[in-house]
Amino acid sequence: MVILEDITQCYGCGACKNACPVNAIEMELDDEGFLIPKINEDVCISCGKCKSVCIANKAPDLSNDREPYALALTASQDILYECSSGGAFTLLAEYVLSEGGVVYGASFTEDFFVEHIRVENLQELDKLKKSKYAQSNQTDCYSKVKDDLKQGRKVLYTGCSCQIAGLYSYLGNKEDTNLFTMDLICQGVPSAVQLREHLDHEYGLSKIDKVEMRRRKGWGTCMSVFLKNGIAYRFGGRTDLFQLVFHNKLNMRKSCYGCKFAQFPRQGDFTVGDFWNHRKVAKDLEERFHKRTSIVYVNNAHGKELFDKAFDSRKDSFYMAKLEGAPETLNNNAGKPAPSDMASREAFYDLYRKKGFTKAGYEAVYPAFVDRAKAICKYRTLVIVRTFKGIYRKMKKEDSIS
Ligand SMILES: Cc1cc2nc3c(=O)[nH]c(=O)nc-3n(C[C@H](O)[C@H](O)[C@H](O)COP(=O)(O)OP(=O)(O)OC[C@H]3O[C@@H](n4cnc5c(N)ncnc54)[C@H](O)[C@@H]3O)c2cc1C
Ligand code: SF4
Ligand code: SF4
Ligand code: SF4
Repeated sequence: MVILEDITQCYGCGACKNACPVNAIEMELDDEGFLIPKINEDVCISCGKCKSVCIANKAPDLSNDREPYALALTASQDILYECSSGGAFTLLAEYVLSEGGVVYGASFTEDFFVEHIRVENLQELDKLKKSKYAQSNQTDCYSKVKDDLKQGRKVLYTGCSCQIAGLYSYLGNKEDTNLFTMDLICQGVPSAVQLREHLDHEYGLSKIDKVEMRRRKGWGTCMSVFLKNGIAYRFGGRTDLFQLVFHNKLNMRKSCYGCKFAQFPRQGDFTVGDFWNHRKVAKDLEERFHKRTSIVYVNNAHGKELFDKAFDSRKDSFYMAKLEGAPETLNNNAGKPAPSDMASREAFYDLYRKKGFTKAGYEAVYPAFVDRAKAICKYRTLVIVRTFKGIYRKMKKEDSIS
């Protein structure tokens, strides 16, 4: 059985694995570190289910609003500390839990892979908060959602747009009114294998207690690594190699370049992202929005009903302002990588297959990094350039010896 003629088009959503009636499919890592399906032909009964649910074989669902209701949302400081953006996820998730529902989202595993899990209470919800900049394995979560819905539970499923498309394709319809979905504005996802390689090289995986990928205050991305011995490291988006490779869109999954799901109309009932244009919101709310702010698109009437109830129940901690205008013009947050970014990606992966993440990463980002640093020409940046230069030269030397 062939699910997809060109497996490089696979989104890694796992809908095929979840749909297989005889568990003939395992998700395995390819040579770039992304999950792809592998069929055990001895078990397969050739029913064709995997092929029919595959989202790469289908056009995206266009049933949501093309110009959705949009709003800026932020929260009190205690809530903002625990999330990456303006707390939209916390608002929706806590409401669904308070209704006896369950929430699905991305969590770090103990050995720093990223995978989706199902949570039923506020303590566990903390594991889903904050962005993990690596693709999350959906495991068997789609089939768990089916069981939850059968039992009449409310469900909030969150993830990237392709993962929400995978869920609906697996379920076969969008009819269950207990199901709510939230997709993220994403500029693509790197592989968790590379994140682990990076963490292992820099700190040693066994020494790490916790990793966070956003600052507690303000917007900037960063890599905060808390070691078991109490030492913590924090690098900004321009000084941590993993973040640099990610922000240069060099190591995203191939399907992200030209992705058909990260666009309007969106796949989820809600779409949330970082709202960089927060200063443009209503004047009387400006004071509230100097902090991190989410942009929230409510993509249909089903989502609007839940959002209104959730917001009404938490007016003490959340602040919002309605936004007007075409959805693409409201914000300048980075979108998916363009097909034109593909050439640099392929160059990065050629290096990656030969040299692994650290060496490939330094080689790929070093020239652009130095050019930018020279242009800015600040003392602090020059120190960083020198550090980079030192590491790079050392690696070059090692390369020429080996
Ligand atoms: C890989 C990635 C790229 C992103 N790129 C952009 C961007 O370019 N522009 C932009 O405006 N916003 C982007 N975001 C979204 C943004 O950074 C916030 O995550 C989002 O706005 C939610 O913030 P929050 O405060 O509501 O919730 P938080 O509590 O910060 O976020 C938690 C939510 O994010 C989900 N999540 C976390 N990591 C992952 C993951 N690896 N895969 C799937 N779901 C995940 C959780 O399931 C949960 O729903 C990106 C997020 C991710 C994960
Ligand atoms: S054809 Fe059917 S049995 Fe075979 S792998 Fe696909 S879903 Fe499973
Ligand atoms: S269903 Fe998802 S994981 Fe399976 S082949 Fe299609 S895109 Fe890939
Ligand atoms: S860009 Fe598209 S394929 Fe990539 S993670 Fe986002 S939704 Fe999925």
